[in-house]
Amino acid sequence: MANLPIVQFEKKIEETVDQNPVVVIIGETGSGKSTQLSQMLHRKGYTNSGIVAVTQPRRVAAVSVSRRVAQELGVRLGEEVGYAIRFEDRTSERTRIKYLTDGVLLRESLSNPELNQYSVIILDEAHERSLNTDILLGLMKRLVKRRASNLKVLITSATLDGEKVSKFFSDCPLLTVPGKLFPVEIFYSKERPTSYLESSLKTAMDIHVREPEGDILIFMTGQDDIEKLVSKLEDKVRSLEEGSCMDAIILPLHGSLPPEMQVRVFSPPPPNCRRFIVATNIAETSLTVDGVVYVIDSGYVKQRQYNPATGMYSLDVVQISKVQANQRAGRAGRTRPGKCYRLYPSRVYNDDFLDVTVPEIQRSSLAGSVLYLKSLDLPDIDILKFDFLDPPSTESLEDALKQLYLIDAIDENGSITSIGRTMAELPLEPSLSRTLIEANEYGCLSQALTVAAMLSAETNLLPGRSKNNEKKRKYPPLELPDGSGFGDHIQLLQIYECWDENDYDIGWCKDYDLQVRGMMFVKEVRKQLSQIMQKIAKDVQVNQSQKRRQSYRNLRKALSIGFASQLAERMRHHNGFRTLGFKPQLVQVHPSSVLKPDDDGLYPNYVVYHELIATSRPYMRNVCAVERQWVIPILEKLDKLDVRKLSGGGLGHVEEITEGNTPDLLKKEAVIVTAPEEQ
Ligand code: ADP
Repeated sequence: MANLPIVQFEKKIEETVDQNPVVVIIGETGSGKSTQLSQMLHRKGYTNSGIVAVTQPRRVAAVSVSRRVAQELGVRLGEEVGYAIRFEDRTSERTRIKYLTDGVLLRESLSNPELNQYSVIILDEAHERSLNTDILLGLMKRLVKRRASNLKVLITSATLDGEKVSKFFSDCPLLTVPGKLFPVEIFYSKERPTSYLESSLKTAMDIHVREPEGDILIFMTGQDDIEKLVSKLEDKVRSLEEGSCMDAIILPLHGSLPPEMQVRVFSPPPPNCRRFIVATNIAETSLTVDGVVYVIDSGYVKQRQYNPATGMYSLDVVQISKVQANQRAGRAGRTRPGKCYRLYPSRVYNDDFLDVTVPEIQRSSLAGSVLYLKSLDLPDIDILKFDFLDPPSTESLEDALKQLYLIDAIDENGSITSIGRTMAELPLEPSLSRTLIEANEYGCLSQALTVAAMLSAETNLLPGRSKNNEKKRKYPPLELPDGSGFGDHIQLLQIYECWDENDYDIGWCKDYDLQVRGMMFVKEVRKQLSQIMQKIAKDVQVNQSQKRRQSYRNLRKALSIGFASQLAERMRHHNGFRTLGFKPQLVQVHPSSVLKPDDDGLYPNYVVYHELIATSRPYMRNVCAVERQWVIPILEKLDKLDVRKLSGGGLGHVEEITEGNTPDLLKKEAVIVTAPEEQ
């Protein structure tokens, strides 16, 4: 790998790291930051005094980059070089270079706040500005002061906001690794096309027919449109007259692809063959695909956005930022001069695109992160004053505090409770952690573990939600015990229990059109969650034998406690629901839910939901019927909630917001929090 740009700077990097506790390294995507820095520090002997950790915002990158580094060093993955992602740890006693997701490192800091096992921590891909990386940046700032003599922190970024990061770390040195990008010619469309998919297809085929060799990288927004485009491209390529063009290979690339499919983009094409790589924004900076000469940029990205005012998530296809557009274009010029076809006019780029992407911390629910910070027991922890590179809004911090209070993770003074501490140790969102703890009390932990694991699977495991309708019809419906009237959680539980009764048979999954890989993942996750529960909670009873009906009831009750901030009540005269949170909203049961109206055409009076999503209208996804008697105490608690007191546990003083700077939605009820000395 001697020809990677970063390798020529090895001496300079070593010297700077030797002399400084924190160094920021800027180098364009593909310059070798992820794969080479760890090896340089290993050569320099930093692995003698501890492990070199490299964080990645994405699981895929942690796996793929560690595999590459193991290969380069000629060792077996999981030995000297390993990786750890949520629910999968491939490291051993011998591991000296460890790739891990930023979330895993954050979790490790709970049990070992000094992170003593590491001599170097590289926060890689900081430009992605993932929520966890942003929190780690703040924690590292504290940690380097405490471990000044034996910890090195490196922060890498592909874009040029490095100065901001350097400033954040008291003007630490900033090294820039000049890339050798070739010029990329940019072409804009005259208008936004009506379908970016069709337009990508046409552009790609034009390139294939007219342009000399070189791979084509096409940026789509998600698995769905990638699959559609891949199949259309396959048809088109097949219909070309034999010998009229060079051969073609069409490869999808997105985060939920099995690892063996992902690595296919790293093998070079055979001679006289063009590759079409149809990717999400994963190919912008996370994974470097070599050999690309042509880029087609739809100008869109799929982004999850949380609105703290409504508690609602939306998964929107939104316009990319200028930084993202330039990263995408840059992918075309790594091996020789390239071309980038932007499927939007230059006016859109100049006037409509934001300069930089909004960091995740400003568009996520912060309940989990605030719980972490509270449980770290940092002296003088004051969430508002916590050193964020870009602070989240007061509104989101408050939303997080209220959620945590309602599920008993913090008390009315804002201090973390013992339940909150246990919750923080579980690698789950706070509401699911809380459900597990409550389920343990009611003797239905085993069932709750199953539901938590099923909900953690990245794919949807309810049958009948498969997109492949043809296939669906071929199989008999899965016969489940009575109880489906309770909704999605109970059905998820029943599916897993049926599989269990069938000895975890792979053929059984196939018969019922359930994803084998997804189900195997659930089994593994369930096992791990069960082990963690046994380690951290008292009187854990995983194998209780309750009657089925009884366990369903207890589980639903535990869910109502865990999801206390996600309850809804049916409207009296129709089947719409009103959420019972801080800002009531009208919502509906998502059409994909197995919860259906009863014989009188009515839904249950009360439900909990796993998620509120805004698509064409606000929907509750994964819904479970609960009972009024469980809801009442929660409503009483909600009534008594005093945000002023809640903010006391390190949040400073709360003050009424004044007209003028208030977002419309919040005019009446909004409050802002200010630190005491700012009054
Ligand atoms: P950066 O972090 O600066 O974006 P990387 O270290 O990820 O750069 O990539 C450097 C080179 O290593 C690139 O040419 C890339 O294609 C290659 N590479 C990275 N991961 C793999 C992998 N899993 N298999 C093969 N090549 C890889």
